[in-house]
Amino acid sequence: MDLIKRAILIFGICVYSSTPILSNSFLQEGLAEIPIKFLNLAKKSDLVDYMVKIRRKIHENPELGFEEFETSELIRSELDKMGIFYKHPFGITGVVGFIGSGDTPFVALRADMDALAMQEEVEWEHKSKVPGKMHGCGHDAHVAMLLGAAKMLQEHRNDIKGTIVLVFQPAEEGGAGAKKMLDDGALENVEAIFGLHLSSLHPVGNVASRTGPILAASGFFEAVISGKGGHAAIPQQTIDPILAASNVVVSLQHLVSREADPLDSQVVTVGKFQGGGAYNVIPDSVTIGGTFRAFSKESFEKLKRRIAEVITGQAAVQRCKASVDFTAMGKTFYPVTVNNKDLHKHFQKVAKDMLGAENLQEMQPLMGAEDFSFFAEAIPGYFYFVGMHNETQGKLESSHSPYFTINEDTLPYGAALHASLATRYLLENQPKTITQDKSIHEEL
Ligand SMILES: [Zn+2]
Ligand SMILES: [Zn+2]
Repeated sequence: MDLIKRAILIFGICVYSSTPILSNSFLQEGLAEIPIKFLNLAKKSDLVDYMVKIRRKIHENPELGFEEFETSELIRSELDKMGIFYKHPFGITGVVGFIGSGDTPFVALRADMDALAMQEEVEWEHKSKVPGKMHGCGHDAHVAMLLGAAKMLQEHRNDIKGTIVLVFQPAEEGGAGAKKMLDDGALENVEAIFGLHLSSLHPVGNVASRTGPILAASGFFEAVISGKGGHAAIPQQTIDPILAASNVVVSLQHLVSREADPLDSQVVTVGKFQGGGAYNVIPDSVTIGGTFRAFSKESFEKLKRRIAEVITGQAAVQRCKASVDFTAMGKTFYPVTVNNKDLHKHFQKVAKDMLGAENLQEMQPLMGAEDFSFFAEAIPGYFYFVGMHNETQGKLESSHSPYFTINEDTLPYGAALHASLATRYLLENQPKTITQDKSIHEEL
């Protein structure tokens, strides 16, 4: 479209609409109405049924990180049905869809697709059909909510003043799928990204978030402590790695208690301790492993360095050798998830318009980690939690529990938040060229 045509179009919009950038009936009543309208649409029974059906289908067929082939296929076939253009693959199974003008600005919405390697213990009609695999973190619902949002947004594609990018990513659970998506160019041209996670702790109709760091940086370590095995009754002829490893575990606990600023939250946990098999044998070696968390790059790097030093140094005190591996089982470091402060303001406005100020909760940072952090490191990002607790339905088990369940009543909230955050972001962040176009018109 040439500049004059655009200028005339914009002039028309300015004259005939009370809110200058709103272009038709859906948006005519103003920005504050958009979240309410999306929530009403998301609560309509056909859309609820659609999301529930998708969620249950994915739940029955959980796939682990980078193996989400059928989930990815399902997403693509749904996007096809909606007439939404997409690109595939990113990060092996990832899908990126586009709704809107195809023009700037670009804003992204993210859903993760992977399940966990655990056995579902919940007996219900749509229980996981794959032994040892379960959607125990709610990513099945995350996909359903983003598809629900996509449906609403596509129906109102003419109201979208820019492009909404749907990011369906693989391998959030330890595989850093987000990083692979980024490396494959999934966020090309995108200037902001929003992501959500279900929360068993917050009530349905509530959201929780904060500005700045919200989730910790996380890393894993594994160490092999080697001595010299032998008879348990003749310890003087052995070098005991069990004693050395035990001292290593104790010494690691001093990193947080004695070396870290008490006001700078950090965690070091040894969750794996394997060695020996008989009561009367001192083994040759012991393997220990664990995780560490921190809320700043500096604290995280310091912890990592000191974990290696303490393991090798403390093992040497007992005459053992130690090797430390920070990439065991293909584990990757996740950076701190930092919420952008301008997007926080945007989120607060939109969520308040939809749910009321009393249903917005400011939360404490969590020591958990998310690979959304890679997106939020690359461009301004915002991550928030959507409540699903309902007192009358009893307590929900936490994510990663084999008894984890989802309150499907929360699906419309997630879908409506996705749609509203993106639609309003675009309306409120129009490129400066439009203002220039307007001035061109005024000169005409
Ligand atoms: Zn998880
Ligand atoms: Zn999760």
